[in-house]
Amino acid sequence: MERRVFGVETEFGLTHLGRERRGLPPDEVARYLFRPVVDWGRSSNVFIPNASRLYLDVGSHPEYATAECDDLLDLIASDRAGELIMHDLALRAEEALERDGFDGSLYLLKNNVDSRGNSYGSHENYLIPRATHFRRLSTVLLPFLVTRQVIAGAGHVLQSSDERAAHFAFSQRADHMWEGISSATTRSRPIINTRDEPHADAGIHRRLHVIVGDSNMSETTQLLRFGATDLVLRMIEAGVPVGDYELENPIGAIRHISHDITGTAAVRIRGGQELTAVEIQTGLLEKAKTFIARHGAHHEHVEKILELWERTLEAVRSGDHSLVDQEIDWAIKKRLVDEVAQRHGVGYDHPKLEQIDMAYHDVRPDRGLFHLLRRRGRAASLLSEERIRAAMMDPPATTRAAVRGHFLSTARAYGAEHTVDWVHHKLVDRPLEALMIKDPFVVEDERIEALLDKLGDRASQLRELSVEEREAQGVPLALSERYTLTADRPHSDPPVI
Ligand code: ATP
Ligand code: MG
Ligand code: MG
Repeated sequence: MERRVFGVETEFGLTHLGRERRGLPPDEVARYLFRPVVDWGRSSNVFIPNASRLYLDVGSHPEYATAECDDLLDLIASDRAGELIMHDLALRAEEALERDGFDGSLYLLKNNVDSRGNSYGSHENYLIPRATHFRRLSTVLLPFLVTRQVIAGAGHVLQSSDERAAHFAFSQRADHMWEGISSATTRSRPIINTRDEPHADAGIHRRLHVIVGDSNMSETTQLLRFGATDLVLRMIEAGVPVGDYELENPIGAIRHISHDITGTAAVRIRGGQELTAVEIQTGLLEKAKTFIARHGAHHEHVEKILELWERTLEAVRSGDHSLVDQEIDWAIKKRLVDEVAQRHGVGYDHPKLEQIDMAYHDVRPDRGLFHLLRRRGRAASLLSEERIRAAMMDPPATTRAAVRGHFLSTARAYGAEHTVDWVHHKLVDRPLEALMIKDPFVVEDERIEALLDKLGDRASQLRELSVEEREAQGVPLALSERYTLTADRPHSDPPVI
């Protein structure tokens, strides 16, 4: 496969802390959060003009699913844009709550566990050829994903349980996975979900749905996570021998590995051999390096991904976490947690450390601890503020997301009722002319243009207008033309540390 389509879905945690009274429960807060979305799209399940999807399922975990991207930086930019769009909604919700007499602060967390132990996900989607051998997904991809937490985990302060003392783990999500590969969704929570919804030509492609990942704050960790997964998939697709690491017990292994930050916990491979996560990852990395040396790099970030992959494994192996403590979430977080523990003379069982773990994932740019560390030069980034802001408004240009974004903006500019999903485009009063785009790499579609042309000449004129001109004409295009961000607004919440 020359190019691949990627998408990430992020579910967020929501907490409302009341100033004088108890805060509202999350499901009520979620309704406040989605009010502008419902006003805008008359539904709590909408596609917005950057071609991504905003969605509130039953329950209280709002979701943002990035548009289809074929470039890893576009993918990370779209995901970061989602954080800021959610953040904008949170600021507006906080104001609406205050107007209704519920003074307090709203916390929107891009993490995977709440204080009651519920887990929510960060799902990855990879376009793969239909012909990919299912068996290799379980012998190669599954062990890769089970051990991937040592290079891409978000890190987690785990409280003590009957079995063990409080400690720092690689992953938030590892303790909440229940199966290796299956088609079930929420009930059994498999690492790889095989539900067959390709959002593409089913004769040619599958959409591989990976639901094991931790939500990452760090852009460099994301690059490694998606980039290394893509490399492993490429080797599987090319049919090259990668070694057989099929795990005897993937779910036992994922927990065992997460709980051992020294990286020395061994897991059993079918056939009886015992290997550590670092050994399995090193085996796959070496194969990936050989593969790339032979076939050449398929995108400009490959070298960086291989280098970071190697360095992260070395950090775990040697115990010298400073090798990656600006680039890999678990190491960035652990350094902070350990410093605070030392400063206060407390252990991992202290509630303050759990609070820091949560605050690391606060998406609010001037309060979240990850963002604070980034500003202090203690966490690396890859994307400029401008690129992320642009991704809040504009779809990725190199996939069919470009067509969806164009269709949405134009129909909206016309006030023409419309519905879309990943594949379909429809003007409500022209139901017989609904159009499908099954090829996710299409960036232009004459049929869509012809359909939009039926709206009249004003469509193309409106597309040319500036934000100011559109505002003057009362034409809302994006969910918000001017997102409210904290920098634009005074506030009083101090950061936790
Ligand atoms: P739900 O969350 O309702 O269970 P879902 O998990 O099937 O649904 P969405 O939340 O709608 O899916 O997100 C789909 C994700 O897949 C998006 O990030 C999107 O960009 C991506 N995607 C769409 N088409 C493809 C494709 N053909 N191949 C890979 N990824 C795709
Ligand atoms: Mg989803
Ligand atoms: Mg999903």
